Amino acid sequence: MKITDIRATTVTVPLEAPLRHANGCHWGRFVRTIVEVETDDGLIGLGEMGGGGESAEAVFRAMKNYLVGHDPARLEEMRFLIANPTASLYNNRTQALAALEFACLDILGQKWGVPVCDILGGKLRDRVPFASYLFFRYPNAADGSGEARTVEQMVAHALELKAKYGFTSHKMKGGVFPPEYELECYRAVARALDGDRFRFDPNGVWSTETAIWFGQQIESIRNDYLEDPVFGMNGMRRVREKVRMPLATNTVVVNFEQLAANVLETAVDVILLDTTFWGGIRPCVRAAGVCETFQLGVAVHSSGELGIQLATMLHLGAVIPNLSFAADAHYHHLTDDIIEGGKLEYRDGAIEVPDRPGLGVRLDRDKLAEYSELYRRLGNYPYDQDPLRPGWTPIIPNDRWADPQDERRPLI
Ligand SMILES: [Mg+2]
Repeated sequence: MKITDIRATTVTVPLEAPLRHANGCHWGRFVRTIVEVETDDGLIGLGEMGGGGESAEAVFRAMKNYLVGHDPARLEEMRFLIANPTASLYNNRTQALAALEFACLDILGQKWGVPVCDILGGKLRDRVPFASYLFFRYPNAADGSGEARTVEQMVAHALELKAKYGFTSHKMKGGVFPPEYELECYRAVARALDGDRFRFDPNGVWSTETAIWFGQQIESIRNDYLEDPVFGMNGMRRVREKVRMPLATNTVVVNFEQLAANVLETAVDVILLDTTFWGGIRPCVRAAGVCETFQLGVAVHSSGELGIQLATMLHLGAVIPNLSFAADAHYHHLTDDIIEGGKLEYRDGAIEVPDRPGLGVRLDRDKLAEYSELYRRLGNYPYDQDPLRPGWTPIIPNDRWADPQDERRPLI
C-alpha cells in the first residue's frame, strides 16, 4: 500500500462562548486543519491538527513531497523521515507528524478491518471517562449567553454540565483572574458538587509561592491533582515539597527527554498525554508504559479537538492500563462537528470508544464544506491575545490579571 495524496482543509467550528485562559482566549471558535491521506487502494485516513487559532494547511502541502509513495504502515520510518530530532531543530514538525500518524493508523485499521485500539494492544475499557472542563467564558457575541465570570455563574455552569453530560470529575481552568478570586470560584464549585472530584489548572502562570499558597488552601478538597501551577520543573518540584496533593503537567513533560528527567528527579506526579504534543497516539502509549514502570499517574490531555482528534484520545484512553483519572476534552464547548452523525455523545460522563475499523469516524463532507467556508470568511484568531485587552500579554509569574468585575462582551 502506498500514499498517493495528502489533502488539508482548514475549518472553524463555533464554540458556545469564548473560552478564557491564562494566555488569552479562544475567540468563540476553534480553527483546526483536517488532514486526509489517500492510498493507492482508495482508502482515506483522517488526521487533525490545531495550531493556536491558525491554519496548518501549508505544512501538510509540503509533506506531500516526502510521503507520496510511502507505505502508511511504516510509521517509524515516517517519524525519522519528517521529524528527525536534529533536523527538527530547524522545522518543528512533531504536531504535523501526529496528524499524519492518526491518518495512517486510520488507514491501517480500515485495511485490516480493526479499530485503531486493536492495533495498539486492544482495549481495556469500552468507554473513556471525561472531566467537565470549566472555563471562565465571555458571553456569546451574538446573544450574550454562556458567560462564566462570577462565582454564581461558574457554579451554575458546573451544575449544568454535570446534569447534561454526567461528569463526576471537574476541571477548572484558571490563570485569568487574581488567584484569590479563582480560589473563591473553585471552592464554591467544590462545595456545590460535593462528592465529586476536582482539578485546577492555571496554565503555569503563578509564582512558586502563589502556587504553594493556593495548593495549601485547597488541600481539604477531593483533588485529582493541581495542574501546572507554575511553569518549569524546578518550580513544580518546590511546590510538590510543600503541597499535599499530586501535581500534573501537560507543559513541562511533553517528550521523552523531559519524561526521563522527571523520573530521575521527580517534579510531577501525573503526566497528561496529548496525542498531538507527543507526535501521535503511539508515542503516548509508549510514554504511558514508562509511567507504568515508574508508577507515575497518567491522564489524557485536550489541546482543543474536533471529532477526529477526539477519536485518537478515545483509542489512547482505551488501551492504557494506567489511565488513573478522567480525560480532559474541550469537546462539549463546541456547537457542532465535522464528522458523520454529528458530535459524539457523552453518557454518564463518558464517551464510547468507536469500534468501527480505523479511528471509527468519517468526514461529513457537507459539514466540512460549511465550516471551511466559515473559516474563509473569519480567518485565523490570535489564541494568545485577549479580545478585550489589546496589547496585553501575561508574564511569568503573572500579575496582569483580568478584572472579574468587567462585564463587557467582546464583539467577535
Ligand atoms: Mg493544562
